Amino acid sequence: MEERWSLNALYESFETEKFNSDLNTYKKLLDDIVIYAENNFSDTENAGKKLEGFIALYLDVLKYAELLLSFARLILSVDVNDENAVKTLDVLEELTTRITGPEVAAMNFVSKVAELDTVICSSSMLQEHTFAIYEMKQKAEHLLSEAEEICIAKMETTGSAAWEKLRDQLTATLKVDITIDGAAKSEPLTVIRNYAHSPDAELRKNAYECELKAYEAIDKSAAACLNAIKGEVLTVSALRGFASPLEMTLKDARMDRNTLDSLINAIKKYLPAFERFFRHKAKLLGHNGALPFYDLFAPLGKSDTQYTYDEAKGLVVKNFSLFSQRLGEYAQRAFVHNWIDVYPREGKTGGAFCSGIHPIGESRIMLNFGGTFQDVTTLAHELGHGFHNECLKGQTLLNSYYTMPIAETASTFCETILINAALKDAPKETVISVLNADLTDAAQVIVDIYSRYLFETEVFEQRKDGSVSVDELKEMMIWAQKEAYGGGLDHNILHPYAWLPKSHYYYAHSNFYNFPYAYGFLFSKGLYAKYLREGGAFVKDYEELLAFSGQNDLRGVGLKAGIDVRDGAFWESSLKLVEREIDEFIGL
Ligand SMILES: [Zn+2]
Repeated sequence: MEERWSLNALYESFETEKFNSDLNTYKKLLDDIVIYAENNFSDTENAGKKLEGFIALYLDVLKYAELLLSFARLILSVDVNDENAVKTLDVLEELTTRITGPEVAAMNFVSKVAELDTVICSSSMLQEHTFAIYEMKQKAEHLLSEAEEICIAKMETTGSAAWEKLRDQLTATLKVDITIDGAAKSEPLTVIRNYAHSPDAELRKNAYECELKAYEAIDKSAAACLNAIKGEVLTVSALRGFASPLEMTLKDARMDRNTLDSLINAIKKYLPAFERFFRHKAKLLGHNGALPFYDLFAPLGKSDTQYTYDEAKGLVVKNFSLFSQRLGEYAQRAFVHNWIDVYPREGKTGGAFCSGIHPIGESRIMLNFGGTFQDVTTLAHELGHGFHNECLKGQTLLNSYYTMPIAETASTFCETILINAALKDAPKETVISVLNADLTDAAQVIVDIYSRYLFETEVFEQRKDGSVSVDELKEMMIWAQKEAYGGGLDHNILHPYAWLPKSHYYYAHSNFYNFPYAYGFLFSKGLYAKYLREGGAFVKDYEELLAFSGQNDLRGVGLKAGIDVRDGAFWESSLKLVEREIDEFIGL
């Protein structure tokens, strides 16, 4: 069986009448909303009616955008050479930029409405969108004039966005010289960095040394990119009236400072547990004391069990059903209705993802299933995203958008269900292998993420006083790694260039793309801990939390399941679960 997904619930092809008539409808709706904004937002008389009309139109625009764009993107993801899809996607993306004008106008309009509360209460449709409307008002507080907004958007394409592309190009085209088994080769950075996961100890060390050496050819250029991007962010966030780039990031993430502080403090408290993990791993690998950086990702134990796709499906349905019937049935439905594109093939992109298509109430999942245990957990992970979308089905599109820190909640949760099941009754060698892989991942999202958060904070601080040199960046990184890893890593064998291969530091439109990973991981673990305590009674709260994740700030989302994310005790309960796993690993 080929196991390709079916997109027929969207369209059968770009040529069908349905696709073309939807495209025409989309164009017409965009014209309509532009005119609507021009005609209605000059004064706030009849504000309720005007806002209702806008939201109705906006929901329609968003619906067609999602239908059409999803189809083109999904086709392209499994066939990068489909020229028709490339062209259509270009057209659609260009068209979609037209929505920015009406969006800005609507935000400004909402901010001018006096007694917004009363206006919202006058209509059930507005009431349903209370959160979205207040978010528009909040965003308007940091908007500049329309002329300035357009100017910034245009300058960014030749500024930060261009610098970001240059950094991508530098790392994508960098060739690393390496000698393996006596043969000299020149390999791309991604290949070299992948050797960190090799069972061959000598290769891991060799690859790390060659990687560091190779960066010398591009470090000054990459540092120039970083300086330019962070400089622009400092300028723009100040213009918008934010106290710092971090404050701007928190607002976008719907997160408050108290919550971030509680999260970070809890992480700091548990760093010694991870230190014990690293030192034990070092011992198993034959090192004396701390772990050298090049062995951070070293595999341990043995797990060469292979799974057929049918076996993977069986495992997922069985274990999901133990959590809740609804979750098990959801997975079953995804399998039966061909929502999943399973195997690798030529022209298909790498990795895995889940894409929710809200207007049809379904998701599509792309995998590159190869039969390892990791592939089975990836299947569970992506189905978790799908289930999140399933829970959001009853909400309007505008109420279905959630922010990055919450995005990995349901996926990590489903992964945890599967890993815990796999660890039960498994032979010791498999347990070592699975625990090592799981804890190595956890250490990345907790300890390494903490080092990245420290580093980025320091870069912004120093960038305020002018450009930061390569040597300064390397020093800051070493300092951040020492702070985060403590005695877990050998202080003479760290990674001073860790700011170079990570694209997150260079994103033109998001900063501090680090703590959201820790948040999502620990939030999900905390929910799992609650599930272990409460059992079946927890399931309803969990689904409720997912269903309302698009119309609450992060604190509100947590409160849906009785969790206060401002409370450090919650984060510590999650970290305690990880610590327990570390103790189990050490005790093996
Ligand atoms: Zn994910």
